[in-house]
Amino acid sequence: MADDKNKPSRDQAEAAVRTLLAWAGEDPAREGLLDTPKRVVEAYGDWFSGYDDDPREYLARTFEEVAGYDELIVLRDIEFESHCEHHMAPIIGKAHVGYLPNGKVVGISKLARVVETYARRFQVQEKMTAQIAQSIQDVLQPLGVGVVIEGAHECMTTRGVHKRGVSMITSKMLGTFREDARTRAEFLRFIDVGPGR
Ligand SMILES: [Zn+2]
Repeated sequence: MADDKNKPSRDQAEAAVRTLLAWAGEDPAREGLLDTPKRVVEAYGDWFSGYDDDPREYLARTFEEVAGYDELIVLRDIEFESHCEHHMAPIIGKAHVGYLPNGKVVGISKLARVVETYARRFQVQEKMTAQIAQSIQDVLQPLGVGVVIEGAHECMTTRGVHKRGVSMITSKMLGTFREDARTRAEFLRFIDVGPGR
């Protein structure tokens, strides 16, 4: 996370956008582009709002009154938008999160919030997958956690090798999801990732 005192001013950020426009061959002073730096900086505030949030706080409030429920809890198809840290290009995808509770459960929307917070940072898909799993493991302390992410990387679809329709799948399994093949298989069956879905 960037140190606040090293954070550039808004004017500096807008000037940087004008520099990139000029670098691309544009005239940043032409009418259609006059407000673009302001809009881009505002969009950045939205796309990268995850630096201001602590995903672990979302997991801190738990419920214990679950009538002995001790089976898998899975939230699948959590849509996210992120940006790759190598090209600052969008990564659009879905995350699937499951855990095996150990007496405590968390509000289901909180799992989506955790995904969203990590997504709204510059990311590497592998790192984001591990961060989501580890934060749930550390705070909620379930018997196991599984996270699977499917992402389409625009740095690959719109430039470079230009391969459309390709998605990258990453997974991080902790605890029983890693050690017990049946738990892992049940989770994967629930989320049903892959072609022909
Ligand atoms: Zn990239």
